[in-house]
Amino acid sequence: MSSTEETSVVIVGAGAAGLTLATFLQTAGVACVVLERRDRAFIEVRQRAGVVDARGVRMFERWGLADQLLAGPVAQTIDYRINGVGRVFEITGDDGSEGRFCTQQMLVNNLLRELIDTREGDVRFGVTDVMIGNEDGPRPHVRYVQDGQANTVACDHIVGCDADRGVSRASIPPGILTTISHEFGYAWLAVLVETPVVGHPIMGASDHGFVAQLPRGPQRSRYYLQCALSDEPGDWSNERIWNEIRLRLHNDTITNAAVLDKEVVPLRSVVHSPMQYRNLYLAGDAAHLVPPTGAKGMNMALYDVDVLATALVSAVRDAETSALESYSDTVLPHTWRYQEFSAWMTDTMHDSGDPALHGDFRQMAARARLDELFDSPAAARLHSDYQRGVA
Ligand SMILES: Cc1cc2nc3c(=O)[nH]c(=O)nc-3n(C[C@H](O)[C@H](O)[C@H](O)COP(=O)(O)OP(=O)(O)OC[C@H]3O[C@@H](n4cnc5c(N)ncnc54)[C@H](O)[C@@H]3O)c2cc1C
Repeated sequence: MSSTEETSVVIVGAGAAGLTLATFLQTAGVACVVLERRDRAFIEVRQRAGVVDARGVRMFERWGLADQLLAGPVAQTIDYRINGVGRVFEITGDDGSEGRFCTQQMLVNNLLRELIDTREGDVRFGVTDVMIGNEDGPRPHVRYVQDGQANTVACDHIVGCDADRGVSRASIPPGILTTISHEFGYAWLAVLVETPVVGHPIMGASDHGFVAQLPRGPQRSRYYLQCALSDEPGDWSNERIWNEIRLRLHNDTITNAAVLDKEVVPLRSVVHSPMQYRNLYLAGDAAHLVPPTGAKGMNMALYDVDVLATALVSAVRDAETSALESYSDTVLPHTWRYQEFSAWMTDTMHDSGDPALHGDFRQMAARARLDELFDSPAAARLHSDYQRGVA
């Protein structure tokens, strides 16, 4: 038994990109269906990014959704440490725009509430076998299975928000996309712990490797520890994690707390372009990946869907398609600026740490770059603009 229905836009993936896009379209009266392979409970507890940057805050304000979706204090400072000695960097600007410590989990939960519970948006969880129909000729459509039933949604536009391993980008025939990538050669152990950040968020270089502590709500924080690409979470016992944190932060007074989750994240940068093919548009991690050092992955996804939502509304409501046709050309320069910033942050923070990584010369050169950040108002201003997401 199979059913067929129609809508304007089908979005594959209910992460930060897919849910934000669906909420914007729903707000503008554009019909859309979101297909998600996980169930709602899983999406609600998935922890990841921690900061919506200033550009993202302005975007939600522009769509009239900031009060409903954003919570958390203003993101103002980062404590950059080398071998335990810290200097606090102000992420503030004179234009009044600031990012928010609103975790991705909090944002996603607020989006689910706003989209489904308040605006009666159509999000279908637990779907399998999603197949994109985007060939020349027939109307675009997406096939999927839910509760054992095969379904088809015919539509005008399909948006792939299903991240790096999803089906959307994979549906594009070979030879259409160009992929440019860079492997940094190391990974982070991302550890969620039951203890809050006291003081400023920390980005720390140490002779023993990179360490960061970033807020994830009032009771929790995320530690990142540089580790080998071949490491598995099981290689890191709780005792080893806390010993490394104390060692890399040069602080013996830190006490062990519960470790709620740990995963190994390889650091890499990837851009697939163009970000569109026929009636399929890619957004977020489906189109690009950045190392988490610059905290830009979710913010790049938000930028994509802001541009795309505006273009889709023009196309569906006013039959004006030029913004949609130039979607990829519009967002790629922004993608590359943020790639450059994320790579700069990643190299600087890791090279200035353990000299076993890239040698004494790169360590000292990277420390000089950090010094410049604090000593040069122009360098500080540029860095602050990137951190805030206004560059
Ligand atoms: C440990 C970690 C820390 C991070 N820290 C930061 C940070 O500090 N700041 C920052 O900005 N970014 C950070 N990021 C990156 C950020 O989380 C991502 O860039 C962001 O989630 C991208 O959003 P997205 O919607 O494109 O993808 P996702 O949030 O991954 O959503 C994709 C969705 O698609 C669904 N899906 C996949 N395949 C299918 C399919 N076949 N059918 C249907 N649905 C499918 C998935 O289940 C998922 O719900 C971090 C990432 C990790 C892993």
